[in-house]
Amino acid sequence: MRILIVEDEEKIASFLKESLEAEYFAVDVAEDGERGAYLACINEYDLIILDNMLPKKEGIEVLREIREKEINTPVLVLSVRSEAPKKVDLLNAGADDYLTKPFAFSELLARMHALLRRPKGIEEEVLTAGDIALDVPRGIVTKKEKELHLTRKEFMLLRYLLQNKGIVLSRSMILEHVWDMEVDAFSNTIESHILSLRKKLGDTGKNRFIQTVQGRGYKIC
Ligand code: CA
Repeated sequence: MRILIVEDEEKIASFLKESLEAEYFAVDVAEDGERGAYLACINEYDLIILDNMLPKKEGIEVLREIREKEINTPVLVLSVRSEAPKKVDLLNAGADDYLTKPFAFSELLARMHALLRRPKGIEEEVLTAGDIALDVPRGIVTKKEKELHLTRKEFMLLRYLLQNKGIVLSRSMILEHVWDMEVDAFSNTIESHILSLRKKLGDTGKNRFIQTVQGRGYKIC
């Protein structure tokens, strides 16, 4: 799951980025409205957290702009009570939810999970395939009920594959959803993570759990 945070207050932005990364999200940050609108258009995010008071372009303008371009990513707007535009204006502009600062991180997370569950029903609590189970809220992966110790990226990669069971995921799709902008698209990051994931899953036999589809990408059946 990849998230865009559009927030000009550096402290809040870095707190959110760190906290969300600890919850297995890939996170990009834009520090003003213009950059936020730009990133929302060039990358495919699963959710956007949009501050309302921003330099260069206000949150509500960013929202209108991306909705005009038919980007339907769920958007959660943050604002301070005193500056809050009417909730109805935000909803009309295409916001999916709204949170007033200051807020508890646990509430933000709960609302994010609700939004991520909504459109495609993709955020199941426990994802399974064969004897592998990935428990999203607990951050645990098991094989035959025995816990496996995965790194953050391995967990995110496996989760993305399981959420798209039966679908071939290309390198660029995996990069878009599991990595943030700091990754070098031409490195062998994905290959090496698939390799280590296979090792930990004991996926070494002839009938691979994570299948390589030559020239196209990877899939789990
Ligand atoms: Ca602000």
